[in-house]
Amino acid sequence: MTQAPGDVVLIGGGHTHIQVMTAFGRRPEPGLRLVLISDQTHAPYSGMLPGHLAGLYRRDEMLIDLAALAEATGTTLILARATGLDLARRQVLCDGRAPVDYHLASIDVGIIPDLSGIAGADRDGLAVKPIGSFLARCDAILGAAVDEGRLRDVAVVGNGAAGVELAFALAARLRARAQASPPARITLIGSGPVVATLNAGVRRHIHRALDRHGIARRDGVRIVAVEAGAVVTATNERIAADTVLISTRARPPRWLGETGLELSQDGSVATAPTLLAMGREDVFAVGDCATILEHSREKAGVFAVRQGPVLARNIRRRWRGEELERHRPQTAYLVILMTGDGRAIAGRGAWLAAEGRLVWWLKDWIDRRFMARFQTAI
Ligand SMILES: Cc1cc2nc3c(=O)[nH]c(=O)nc-3n(C[C@H](O)[C@H](O)[C@H](O)COP(=O)(O)OP(=O)(O)OC[C@H]3O[C@@H](n4cnc5c(N)ncnc54)[C@H](O)[C@@H]3O)c2cc1C
Repeated sequence: MTQAPGDVVLIGGGHTHIQVMTAFGRRPEPGLRLVLISDQTHAPYSGMLPGHLAGLYRRDEMLIDLAALAEATGTTLILARATGLDLARRQVLCDGRAPVDYHLASIDVGIIPDLSGIAGADRDGLAVKPIGSFLARCDAILGAAVDEGRLRDVAVVGNGAAGVELAFALAARLRARAQASPPARITLIGSGPVVATLNAGVRRHIHRALDRHGIARRDGVRIVAVEAGAVVTATNERIAADTVLISTRARPPRWLGETGLELSQDGSVATAPTLLAMGREDVFAVGDCATILEHSREKAGVFAVRQGPVLARNIRRRWRGEELERHRPQTAYLVILMTGDGRAIAGRGAWLAAEGRLVWWLKDWIDRRFMARFQTAI
C-alpha cells in the first residue's frame, strides 16, 4: 500500500492519538487521510490495569480495539513497529515493511521501563510497561502462581502511584484466593517515600490502607538486583521475593534520539506549546514521549488525555494553513488510586485528600466513561 502525500500519520495508538481518530471520524477533513502505525492491535488503558489485575474488570473492558476503532473512524491501520523518522524524505521507518510517507506526522509512543540500574530485572522481573507485554507475561507467570497458591513472597519495586496500585491489586487478587491457598506476603519497596509527588494527607491515607491490607513497606530502599528468590538492596540486604513486579523509572524509546528531533533532558521529544516538535512544522509529539519545554510536567496519562482534542484541532489547522492553538497543561490534577476493596484514595494539589467508597465510585465512573468513547460506534 502506498500513501498519498496528503496522509497524516499517527505513530503509536496512545491516549492522545485515539482521540484524534475519533475527532476525525466524527468530522472528516476533505483530502486528509489518517494512518495509524501501531505495534499492537489492542491499546491497554492504564487507569483500569490495577482494577483488571484485582479482578474487578474483564480484559476486554480495559483494552481499546484499535482495528475496530480504525474501521469506525476511517483510519488506515498499519500494524508495525516504528523504528525511526526520515525528516528529509518525510517518511516513518518501520520494522519489516516499507517506509510510510507522511505529509504530517505525530508521535505518541509512550515510555518504556529503564531497568539499567537493576541487574537481572530483564530476566527475573516483571516490568509493568509496556502494559501489553506485562499482561502477556502476567498471564503466564503470575496468573498460574496466584491461582494455584504457589506465590509466597511478592516484591513490588517502585512505590510511585502505579506501584502502590499494583500492590493493592495483587492483595485483592490474593484475598479472593485466600480460601484455596495460603496467603502470600507483599512488600512494596521504593528508594523514596511512598508516592512522594502527592500531599501528606493522601500519603497518610495510603499508609493506613497498606497496613489494612497487610502490605509491608520498605521506603528509602534502593534495589540493585533481582536474583532467584530475592531482591538485593544497595546495602546488600536480600528481601525474599519469588515474584518481582517492577514499576520504577521509565524513559522514552531510544530511537527518538536518532530522528534528529530536538530532545528534552529526559530524552523525550521537545515540543512547543502547539505540540509541534521544536523547529518543525510537520511533526507533532504528545503524551509521555514528549515534553512541552515551556510547561514541563510529570508524566501521567491525564496530560496525554487532555492533549487529545488540542492535537486534533492543531492537525486540522496545520492542514488548512491556519494559526495553531497553544496548549498550557494544568499544574494540579486529580489522582485517584484504587485500593481493590471497593474503596479508593484521591488527592489533588497541596491540600485535597479523601478516601472511601464514593472515591472508588468516581474513579470507576471516570474510567468507564472514558473507555466508552472508544468502544462504541463513533
Ligand atoms: C499501573 C499503572 C497505572 C496508571 N494509572 C494512571 C492513572 O490512573 N492516571 C494517570 O494519569 N496515569 C496513570 N498511569 C500513567 C499512564 O499509563 C501514562 O502516563 C499514559 O499511558 C501515557 O499515555 P501515552 O499516550 O503517552 O502512551 P501509552 O498509553 O503508553 O501509548 C503508547 C502506544 O504506542 C505504542 N507504541 C510504542 N512504541 C511504538 C512503536 N515503536 N511503533 C508503534 N507503536 C508503538 C504502544 O504499544 C502503545 O499502544 C498509570 C501507569 C501505570 C503503569
